[in-house]
Amino acid sequence: MNNSSISRDLVLLGGGHAHVEVLRRMGMQPPIPGVRLTLISRELHTPYSGMLPGLIAGHYTFDEAHIDLGPLAHFANARLFHDEVTGLDLERQRVLCRNRPPVAFDVLSIDTGSTPTITAPGAATHAVPIKPVSTFNQRWEELRQRVLERRGKVRIGVVGGGAGGVEMLMAVRHRLRQDGAAAGQPTTQFHFVLLCASDDLLPQSNARVRALYQDVLRNAAVEVKTRCHVSAVELGRVHTQAGEAIDLDEILWATHAAAPAWPRAAGLTTDDEGFIRVSDCLQSISHARVFAAGDVANVTGYPRPKSGVFAVRQGPPLTENLRRVLRGAPLAPFKPQRQFLSLITTGDRHAVAARGEWACAGDWVWRWKDGIDRRFMRRYTDLAMPAMATTAGTEPAVAMRCGGCGSKLGAELLREALAGLQQGARAEIVIGLETPDDAALVRLPPGMLAVQTVDAFRSFIDDPWLFGRITAAHCLSDIFAMGATAQTALAIAHVPLADPRKMRDDFVQMMSGALEVLAAEGVTLVGGHSAEGAELSLGFAINGYVAEHAALRKRGAQPTHTLILTKPLGSGVLLAGAMRGQTKSRWLEAAYACMSQSNGPASRCLREHDAAAMTDVTGFGLLGHLLEMLSDDGPRVALDLEQIPMLDGAVELATLGIRSSLYPDNAHALTRAMSAGQSSPRLELSCDPQTAGGLLAALPRARADACLEALHALGFRHAAVIGEFIEAAPGARIVVQSA
Ligand SMILES: Cc1cc2nc3c(=O)[nH]c(=O)nc-3n(C[C@H](O)[C@H](O)[C@H](O)COP(=O)(O)OP(=O)(O)OC[C@H]3O[C@@H](n4cnc5c(N)ncnc54)[C@H](O)[C@@H]3O)c2cc1C
Repeated sequence: MNNSSISRDLVLLGGGHAHVEVLRRMGMQPPIPGVRLTLISRELHTPYSGMLPGLIAGHYTFDEAHIDLGPLAHFANARLFHDEVTGLDLERQRVLCRNRPPVAFDVLSIDTGSTPTITAPGAATHAVPIKPVSTFNQRWEELRQRVLERRGKVRIGVVGGGAGGVEMLMAVRHRLRQDGAAAGQPTTQFHFVLLCASDDLLPQSNARVRALYQDVLRNAAVEVKTRCHVSAVELGRVHTQAGEAIDLDEILWATHAAAPAWPRAAGLTTDDEGFIRVSDCLQSISHARVFAAGDVANVTGYPRPKSGVFAVRQGPPLTENLRRVLRGAPLAPFKPQRQFLSLITTGDRHAVAARGEWACAGDWVWRWKDGIDRRFMRRYTDLAMPAMATTAGTEPAVAMRCGGCGSKLGAELLREALAGLQQGARAEIVIGLETPDDAALVRLPPGMLAVQTVDAFRSFIDDPWLFGRITAAHCLSDIFAMGATAQTALAIAHVPLADPRKMRDDFVQMMSGALEVLAAEGVTLVGGHSAEGAELSLGFAINGYVAEHAALRKRGAQPTHTLILTKPLGSGVLLAGAMRGQTKSRWLEAAYACMSQSNGPASRCLREHDAAAMTDVTGFGLLGHLLEMLSDDGPRVALDLEQIPMLDGAVELATLGIRSSLYPDNAHALTRAMSAGQSSPRLELSCDPQTAGGLLAALPRARADACLEALHALGFRHAAVIGEFIEAAPGARIVVQSA
């Protein structure tokens, strides 16, 4: 989108079943002039509810059963903010998030699902809830691990006899029996108990479905306890209202859905249970700018079960009404269907089908369901990534301004961004932002040399807060590579011309992210320059100090030294893959976490362990920067490719032939400096340009183990010895040991 036309923000909260359809449709339809789309989601992969039991049972892989929100948001030309919503400021039209500053909205749509109803004392501690579904897979893997580590008979109870409860019980049973059989254990090792508060299981289904499923449970030797209301839970036991105590080693909690607390706390009108009350246009009945769909919404006049089917069906009318409200057009009501096809799986490849009073069961029902589900998933995975849509031909919402006015943006916005943030007050700062002047005045500690560096980036991700964090970590890195202490920073920032409120929001997000990272290193921002620019960009001049004898240079390694790398490689290839929609969001998430990690603690640790030479791995890639550590007549490096830590997904993408645009230059410059070997994805990744990469250090072999242990404890869990310095010899400066 042409930034100068941005005047309104449509913010989607949660990547639930309705919003994935909104994103898909937004990507397929012409953009709405002047509107910027942002998705905020706590998880980056949405489990498709229809395939969740199949995932648990082992019929599907994680990727087959999850919709990756990253490529979908890219397809929709939406910004994706990975964060948890904690509340809403409806008066100021802001979404409150766990990690970042509030996000402004003009129109808001909420599809954040439901949470478990845990009323029984002890259940929150001793039971495993199946809701929220978006995080159940992780809880299940932990439960599975615990169960498989047990010896002897294991009793597993599922509390809740609705469709979710019985499906989950049978899926868990199927998977554990498979696991047990693979480990040579008897299939009778697991005993399952279903605890239903109602008179019968599946109370919302017809009598034929209940009879069919009762047969399934009977054949599986599942103990079914009806009218069994669990009133308390303790470790290894549940207590019922009737006074019975039932021993269970694991307890799964599958009772009906509850609402999150924050919509009601924010002032949205909700039903008695806290679900957002919306009209038949999916618009909040109390706040016209707010829409809601899926489990979190209650459509007035059309009570429906909390089910993925209804959330999915609400996707098209929700998209239509969001577009209408943004165009100022009247909203279009929709009527949710009353009857729907329900396909309830039984663990193995068998399922029960129901619609109205009709029901049947069979393996063919499972195959039918499998076909429907896979077709559904293909809608969100087989995305033809179009060229970015433009708003060419539309009138800019903001009048063009002359270039000279641009610089006025900075001072006010910088103050606003700083206002809510804790800046480390350093005694050495004589004049900083507190007492602004033409320039900052900073004292150096006695006997210290000034260390100065500068770096800047165009935004390479669509989340300004995260971009700020990564940029700050990258810019600090040169100071730490010198073994120096970072002291102050000067910012240079460009924000694309847009509605002034949007410019302020972007600037505040970006600077807040950056200042958090700077503040954690005790670095104070003492000034800067910010202006309008063609695109969002940020850079910092960082000033630090070091005693002359303590400065760590790139060269200085001896043949008695070992080579340590503190962070994994692959950020270049992952970002290149993301541009093509081929990088999984969980890979990117891990890469971003690495990139925003400051190298400060690693630098101090390496120094304490007698590092003799150090540099940081950035644009030239590992091998380019390693080459800078080696002189013509000094030691060589024997590099062990297999030991080089790689970010998740980097090898997969390199194997697919994905390269960053800087890769060819890096690879070409290196060919003469290396022992020629067979090309391999790992070797290629050693030329991958890094953003905010790790430190590369030479230190005495005897200190390596202790140093690695300390680095891991500091959170550099990928840090590894990747090679050894060896005696000078004619020929290649880098000898690759394994490829
Ligand atoms: C075991 C089981 C099996 C089921 N099987 C079926 C079935 O076969 N068919 C069916 O129709 N239904 C089924 N359901 C019900 C179905 O899972 C839910 O009704 C459905 O997931 C609701 O979709 P939703 O769009 O409301 O929210 P969800 O799919 O739960 O998505 C919520 C989204 O919001 C995000 N989010 C949540 N809170 C926050 C926050 N505070 N901040 C930011 N993001 C947030 C999450 O990360 C996620 O992206 C099943 C449920 C269970 C538990």
